[in-house]
Amino acid sequence: MTEVLEAQTERGSDVTRISHWIGGRSVAGESGRSGPVFNPATGQQTGAVDFASIEEVDRAVKAAREAFPGWRATSLSKRSELLFRMRETFHQHREDLARILTAEHGKVLSDALGEVARGLEVIEYACGVPTLLKGEYSEQASTGIDVYSIRQPVGVVAGITPFNFPAMVPMWMFAPAIACGNTFILKPSEKDPSASLLIAKLLHEVGIPDGVFNVVHGDKVAVDGLLDHPDVDAVSFVGSTPVAKYIYERGTKAGKRVQALAGAKNHMVVLPDADVDQAADAAVSAGYGSAGERCMAISVVVVVGDVADRLVGAIQERLPKVKVGNGLDEGVEMGPLITREHRDRVASFIDKGREAGATVVADGRESAPDGEGFFLNPSLLDNVKPDMDVYLEEIFGPVLGVVRVDTYDEAVRLVNENSYGNGTAIFTRDGGVARQFQFDVQAGMVGINVPIPVPVAYYSFGGWKDSLFGSSHIYGPEGISFYTRGKVVTSRWPDPATSKVDLGFPQTR
Ligand code: NAD
Repeated sequence: MTEVLEAQTERGSDVTRISHWIGGRSVAGESGRSGPVFNPATGQQTGAVDFASIEEVDRAVKAAREAFPGWRATSLSKRSELLFRMRETFHQHREDLARILTAEHGKVLSDALGEVARGLEVIEYACGVPTLLKGEYSEQASTGIDVYSIRQPVGVVAGITPFNFPAMVPMWMFAPAIACGNTFILKPSEKDPSASLLIAKLLHEVGIPDGVFNVVHGDKVAVDGLLDHPDVDAVSFVGSTPVAKYIYERGTKAGKRVQALAGAKNHMVVLPDADVDQAADAAVSAGYGSAGERCMAISVVVVVGDVADRLVGAIQERLPKVKVGNGLDEGVEMGPLITREHRDRVASFIDKGREAGATVVADGRESAPDGEGFFLNPSLLDNVKPDMDVYLEEIFGPVLGVVRVDTYDEAVRLVNENSYGNGTAIFTRDGGVARQFQFDVQAGMVGINVPIPVPVAYYSFGGWKDSLFGSSHIYGPEGISFYTRGKVVTSRWPDPATSKVDLGFPQTR
């Protein structure tokens, strides 16, 4: 199933050329610009991804626009059948996809399989599109008049996605968008772009008509081309906060519907009554899983009261046991970071924390695997204060901070005063306090003794504050609503004998 990629491997080179997918086929880029793609576990360049020009973006938009009338007219039962087939095909090829994710992102294979599985859940939800698009009907709203609502696709949708979930986040977008009758253009992260091509190939095999799903690779040029294009109707974005804000502002200024999911700084509050071992297991799993490169990763542990020493000790004890290495190797639990630059930036927070007065409990640079891979082992900073950079900035790597506070109120204030509001979690055995936390806390996704509360596919995913620009969360019911426009029809079948001119405003009674 990797033949699309293999076919493009340049003769005599180990570097694979990664091209666009437009109108149902692979299209080599002609802009003359490209970017390097690495295997982060070895540090070697494995790919060169074409960067689209404005003309190439325009070609993809044209393909999507031309495919739209036929696709939106395709019956719901046919679309549903294709989605069921999509589910089966992606399920069969889940390991092919996962291997590509590990090779370009670095996450361990089991985690990559988990990513595909969570994306598949959204395809499964989209299989129910005939039910999801059902409207409402009011008979005899006025005498002889019926009123009903329908939902119709918005048109051409662009999806711009981050490096950390190169399969799942596109699946969050294209599955509901296509199910609702839209056509789609994916602009994946240029850091790990190959999964998008396997996705395109699989959708082609499934029988999704040419032009319904397209991929343009690239950087800001391609993104701006999509944001400014008059024939793109809606934009879904997932990525960092500064870019999300930019996408939202530029896209809405150009008259598009935009949802932009952004960065995070997720707090895990641990109360004195919590099970310390359970909380430590959760902090390590959620802090260092996928090398901390998850938007729902726990980045700050807020410990309340005198449980702090025990909890920090329990986390510290677990760190040397986390096996770091190449994600394809048996038993490895944590892989490298995405690029050398990102690894160095993440590691710099260890020094920044120390200089600002935090206690460095574990410095992951000391134990990182040898070689050219972009590794950083789990790192832990205690006594972090809310005015430190290490607390304020999204680190997006395996550097976990611990903030000690005296009371529950202080803990909640800390979470609520943070500029981000993506996910948060509380660990306690007290149901009443957990319920109060759910009421008080300003974040879009809350876990109660669950450290990574990514909602199941039939709820929607999204944050508050600087973690979201626009009003719509992604997938689930809000995804269906974002990818459709409502229409209300008021209908009368009058008896011609009763017809007359009436210039008054329509009355219902
Ligand atoms: P990023 O913002 O750098 O890139 C995301 C996308 O935007 C990529 O496709 C990239 O090519 C494009 N892009 C980057 N800079 C741009 C610019 N100046 N103009 C136009 N387009 C630009 O994000 P990333 O580093 O790929 O991903 C990590 C970030 O994504 C983290 O901040 C993480 O929290 C966030 N994220 C958020 C969620 C969520 O659901 N809230 C989920 C996953 C990741």
